[in-house]
This record gives sequence, structure tokens and C-alpha cells, in this order.
Amino acid sequence: MHVYLNGRILPEKEASVSVFDHGFLYGDGIYETMRVYDGVVFKLNEHIGRLYRSASLIGLRIPYNTEGIKAAVCKTIIANGFRNAYLRMTVSRGHGDIGLDPALCPEPTVVIISRELREYPAEYYKKGISVIIAKTRRNLMQAIDPRIKSLNFLNNILAKMEAKKLGAYEAIMLNVDKKIAEGTISNVFFTIDGMLCTPSVSCGILDGITRGIIIDLAKKRGIRVREGRFKKEDIYSADEVFITNTTMEVMPVSSVDERQYSVGGMAKLLRGLYRAEVKAYAADIRSKGEAI
Ligand code: PMP
Repeated sequence: MHVYLNGRILPEKEASVSVFDHGFLYGDGIYETMRVYDGVVFKLNEHIGRLYRSASLIGLRIPYNTEGIKAAVCKTIIANGFRNAYLRMTVSRGHGDIGLDPALCPEPTVVIISRELREYPAEYYKKGISVIIAKTRRNLMQAIDPRIKSLNFLNNILAKMEAKKLGAYEAIMLNVDKKIAEGTISNVFFTIDGMLCTPSVSCGILDGITRGIIIDLAKKRGIRVREGRFKKEDIYSADEVFITNTTMEVMPVSSVDERQYSVGGMAKLLRGLYRAEVKAYAADIRSKGEAI
């Protein structure tokens, strides 16, 4: 794999970051995960927009404009020759002396790593994955706003460890008010009497790009959508459950704790619509002659 590091493309083994990088020392930095479909980065502008938002929420200056980020992403994809890939752009505060003050770091560190996409097993989409409701609560939004896609992922990792211990694939975290927030790397959806329900951003979640697309697609189809504040009992009494993110797209859930669900029509319908949206998006980018 070739890595983009501060303007240069380097073989993975030569791409190293200082041990005094504040991303490493303090988790001080942000990132975005993107998915490349047949050479096109899906919703690149939205990911760049969110990267800038995260940066602004932590007072970090990204040393590139939008075109500069696009060029860096493009360079990374070309260097690796990937058609279908996972791509992660990380911007840390940079290396500096020991201490929390961001002013100690004169230059941010910019890294893009990429990997040939390993699709989730088809069986997961067919049968659904198991999920638990974690004891670990989602970070208090007044403490670390989950809209910041920050390098500090310990909150999510602790919940993921709970899931793994119980043999489940993903953990849903509740917020401090015991309302459903989100998964460790995903947003949560469920249906009640044909209505599509998902926690509102005010519950303290990352407003996932996939989540936004799914809400729009559902509304366009005339499906009633409710972004609200839900208890775990609401999800237990739901007809079907699924989770979303950039890499897994729409993933059906077969169980939440002891409660079992069959893979229902809503997840299938929305996954199909999402895939169609990806195809249309890629065709549009190509018709405009854009590189990515
Ligand atoms: N919530 C969290 C905590 C995440 O890490 C992710 C993955 N980035 C998501 C939700 C889903 O976001 P997206 O659809 O933009 O990938």
C-alpha cells in the first residue's frame, strides 16, 4: 500500500509519523472514512465538508483547500491503483513538544491510507448481524461533541469490547439520558408500524452521511420518517432494525440483546435504493469528466 503523508506518496513502510505527534500522544485530531466505488469517491464533497466541520470544532486549521484535499485523495487512489477501496483521511494536530497546548504544534499531520475494499460477507446482509445495547454510554455531547469525528475513539472501543465479549458484532450506545444514540461505527434505524425511526442528532450522535442519504431516500419513497428520542424498549418492540455507515451501507440486524428480528423489507428496499444512488452518483461524476 502507498500512503499519502504531508504531500508525499510513500510506500507504507516508509510512511512514519513522529512519536511526539499530538494525534498519538493525546488523540488530538480528526478523520474521515470514505468509500471508493469503481474509482469514484462516493459523496466526496460531503466528507470534505464534515472534515472541515470537525476541524473547526477543535480549532484545527487544515492546510489545504477543498481542491487540495481532492488532489491528495486522487493521488492516493492512483498510486494504489484501487477501483473499489476504503479510504481514510486523518489530520492530527501535528508533532510538537509535550503538553496539551495546540500552539506547540506548528503544522498538522495529514495522512491518507487506503485499502482494497473487503466487502462484508453476503451472509451478513442476508441474515443480519447481532447487536447488543452497551453499558458504556455515548460521550456526553457537552463534553466531547460526537459530531467531531475525532481520533479519540476510546468511548466507542469500550462499547465494541462489550459487544465482542458477548459474541455480538456491534454495540448500540445509549446517551446519558438513557436514550438510544448510535453504534460504535454506525447509525441506528428501526421500524415501528412502517414508520422509519432513527435517533435525532440532538441525542448526541455523529450525523452519518449514510444516515442522511437513507432518510432522504425513504422520504422520497413516501415512507414516514421520525428522527426522535427513543428508549431501548422502542427498539425491542420494533419490527426490524438496521444500521448504516459508509462501508457497510445498510446492514440488517438479526438481534438486539435477547430480541430477535427477521431481515425485513425496509432494509432490503433502502439498501437497493442506496446502491442505485451510488450508481447514479458515479455515472454523474463520470459524465462531468471529473477525476474522482
Ligand atoms: N457513528 C459513528 C460513531 C461512526 O464512527 C460512523 C462511521 N463514520 C457513523 C456513525 C456513520 O457515519 P457515515 O455514514 O458517515 O459513515
